[in-house]
Amino acid sequence: MLQIITPIFVIFVLLGCGGRNAKHKDDYAQTRKTMVKTQIASRGVSDPRVLKAMEKVPRHLFIPKHLIDEAYSDYPLPISEGQTISQPYIVARMTELAQLKGDEKVLEIGTGSGYQAAVLSLLCKEVYTIEIVEKLANFAEQKLKELNYHNVYVRYGDGYLGWTQAQPFDVILITCAPPTLPESLIVQLKNGGRIVAPIGEEYATQILTVFEKIDNKLVKTEHEPVRFVPMKGLIEQDK
Ligand code: SAH
Repeated sequence: MLQIITPIFVIFVLLGCGGRNAKHKDDYAQTRKTMVKTQIASRGVSDPRVLKAMEKVPRHLFIPKHLIDEAYSDYPLPISEGQTISQPYIVARMTELAQLKGDEKVLEIGTGSGYQAAVLSLLCKEVYTIEIVEKLANFAEQKLKELNYHNVYVRYGDGYLGWTQAQPFDVILITCAPPTLPESLIVQLKNGGRIVAPIGEEYATQILTVFEKIDNKLVKTEHEPVRFVPMKGLIEQDK
């Protein structure tokens, strides 16, 4: 009897340990280091906190399983529902433009996979993120919870309305492209705060733009051209 039980016990223990190791082991840590060096720092992102956050967040866990080998490639990837997760460099660039110090309340419009929200959550106090596609909002909420990003709050809804109950925000990051800056978001931004957003009607004309609220007036700085999915919602319904 003991002869049968012993091998079964050994197999059970080995499987148990293997499972635990697989859960904690991060096979992609080195790949992320390389990504930060060759795709992000090399293009001029230099905030050490941003670089560190990009090194930490397991991007491969936010994308569809069949694309896992491309998780750290230098391009955007499809998630589902016809949406995309931005290229790693763009996530880092927008995060750097947000100039987070650690105690901010941040609103993100366009949760998508939840990846950008995870990066932001390591750099500020709280992240509120809104997604207009219910399936994506649910997936991201579940994923962020599973990975212990406890300071991120996900809501299924229309970003054009902002998040009234949680306002005002120090920083607002829009990761889909509105033709012009939505008025409600300007109202929900603190004086002294900033909005980072791709602005533009067509894919070909979007510009990454920073708006700073100084003495309750907006000061705009335009950066490089970008390509984001359009921001859907109120304006589209009005058409
Ligand atoms: N930040 C995401 C990628 C964003 S893709 C990530 O890290 O994965 C843009 C997302 O914006 C899409 O998921 C799209 O459904 C969403 N979106 C478009 N219009 C929106 C709106 N009005 N309110 C909230 N989300 C919107």
